[in-house]
This record gives sequence, structure tokens and C-alpha cells, in this order.
Amino acid sequence: MSFVRSGVLAGVMLMRAVIGPSAYATECPERPDALGTSRTIVVDPKEHTRVGTMQYAETLPLADHEIVLTFDDGPSPRYTDRVLAILAAECVKATFFMVGKMAQMFPAEARKVRAEDHTVGTHSFSHPLTFNRMSEVEAGAEIDKGIDAVAAALGGRDKAAPFFRVPGFLTSTTTEAALASRGLMTWSADIAADDWKRISGAEVAQRTIAAIEAKGRGIVDLHDIHERTVEALPTILTELKQRRFKIVQIVPATATLAKTETTPDQWQIREARPSHTGQSEAPAVPGAGAGPQEKPSDGTSKVAASAGRRAITGRIHGRTSRFVREAHYRREQRISRKSWDRRR
Ligand SMILES: [Zn+2]
Repeated sequence: MSFVRSGVLAGVMLMRAVIGPSAYATECPERPDALGTSRTIVVDPKEHTRVGTMQYAETLPLADHEIVLTFDDGPSPRYTDRVLAILAAECVKATFFMVGKMAQMFPAEARKVRAEDHTVGTHSFSHPLTFNRMSEVEAGAEIDKGIDAVAAALGGRDKAAPFFRVPGFLTSTTTEAALASRGLMTWSADIAADDWKRISGAEVAQRTIAAIEAKGRGIVDLHDIHERTVEALPTILTELKQRRFKIVQIVPATATLAKTETTPDQWQIREARPSHTGQSEAPAVPGAGAGPQEKPSDGTSKVAASAGRRAITGRIHGRTSRFVREAHYRREQRISRKSWDRRR
């Protein structure tokens, strides 16, 4: 090895030591055809505290056709492992919003998620569906206990990102105050995957892809506690690849990892282009825009329209619409009844 080359290599290694490997796109040398993770965005949670157009005015600073995958309610020994294997096969990095009690019960699963370089956020300790009725002190206690449990499972507070998702998205001003005083970034979502509904894995995949096409970019909300999610995930990743979507990982800024520079407008909602159906951010005219030109087939256009309408009805003046609240309440009831409460 020449002196120059070894010098360059040492420089790269030094940069990595300083910046950390997360600042780079995931390398996938053994699988050049994999979907991969195209880039990592480093965010300062205190700067943009609430993201996700289903509830808030801002969302992550994603470009068109960029997708962030999130998985809630685990870790689960039955499903999380399989989700990890599917993601690993495509070199995809995601964010897992773990329930403290689940991490406490299944710490090895929690550690495995983090060891595979996924981002780990938290989702309360016991997943109560009462954050919209709690006092700030009560909400804070439930949030803290969840973070403590996940951090204990992972072996350090620095291993959990200061990212939080409110169970059932049932937030309130007092809960928001508790989150803000802790410097946590609250994640809603942009795209619901419907994997909490009693539908087949194939249907989950179809609806998720249709909703992604309708929205064009954003945070996808999935759950690593359902068989249908495991069934749907390979198809979702294959379809994303074919439709030229890109996966982005989000990590928090630290003392040694600087935030990605962004402009305020990149965090703003991109309103849907006006059209008579009003359902899509996709180019109204085929050929317009930089993204791929595939349009939903006749079989999926109705689903796309419905998903698009849902995304719009879910965001009314920055508040959660009745539809979103009720849908998530039903989902969460089902989750607590069927999936993880049973294991207590
Ligand atoms: Zn949940």
C-alpha cells in the first residue's frame, strides 16, 4: 500500500471515528441489488420537536421518494427477529419505537435491534392509551419509565435516541409539554400501513405501497408485533425498490455527530398538488416531477385514492382528526388485548 493511499485510508478512518458510521449510507457490498439505505439524516431533536403530517405542521426533511420506515410496539421475540432478517437482506435501516415493558421482558431482542444499527426510540413504558388525559407529571413519569427500561435493556442511555411516539397518537398539550421539557422529538407519521387491521399480509403490502405512492415521501408507521407485517415486508421492500423509492435513516445529533444542515422549508408539509380528486402528491401529469412514472394499476387506484384522502383528513389544522384518533384507538385496543398484554 502506498504512503498516499494509506494516508487517505487513515483519514477516512479518522473521519469515521469522529463522525460515526451512521453519517454514511449503509454499505451493502454483498448485495449490490439490495434496496439499501440511501442516506442518513442527523437531526437535532430540540430544533424540530414534532414531526409527521398526520398530526403536526412539520415532517422530516425528506426529498421526493424518500421513505423512513418505523416499527412500533416491540421488541417481540416472535416477530422482531424476522423483521430484522428481512431488513438485513435489503440492507435497510429503520427506527424502532420500543415499549419499555417489552424491552424489559425481551432485552436480548432489544439489543439485537440496536446491534444491527437501527435507530431505537421509545413508546412509553406500558403503552397506556390515556396520554390525552394525563397530567404533565403523569405523562412525564410514563415517558421516563419507558426510556429507563429501554436504556437498561440496551445497556446505556446513549443507545436510545431521544425520539418518542405517543401510544395511539393520543397526545395532548400536557403530554406535549412533558415531551418538550425532556428535549424529546415526538414522531407522528405521514403514512399509515394498516398492518393493525385484520387483513392479509398481501393486503397490507398493497395498501402500504398505494399510500406511499399517494403521499410521495414520508414516515411509514408499521408494527413488529404482527404476522401480517412480517408477511408484507418483503413485498413492500421489493415494490419500493422497483418504484425507485429510497430508504433514509434518521439518527439524533450528538456531541460528536453534527446535525445535517437543512432549511426550515424542508421541514414543512408539502401540500398535495391541486387536482379534482385531491388525493395525491404525485405528479398530476405523467412525466412531471423527478420520481418514477409508474401509476397505480386500476386495481390499486381506489386504494390509493382512499389512502390519500385519509392522509388529508388526518391532518386538520395540525390537530388529529376524529378519524385518525378513532382508528388508532381501535388499533391500540387490539394490540394491547391480543399481542403484548397477553404476555404479562
Ligand atoms: Zn403503539
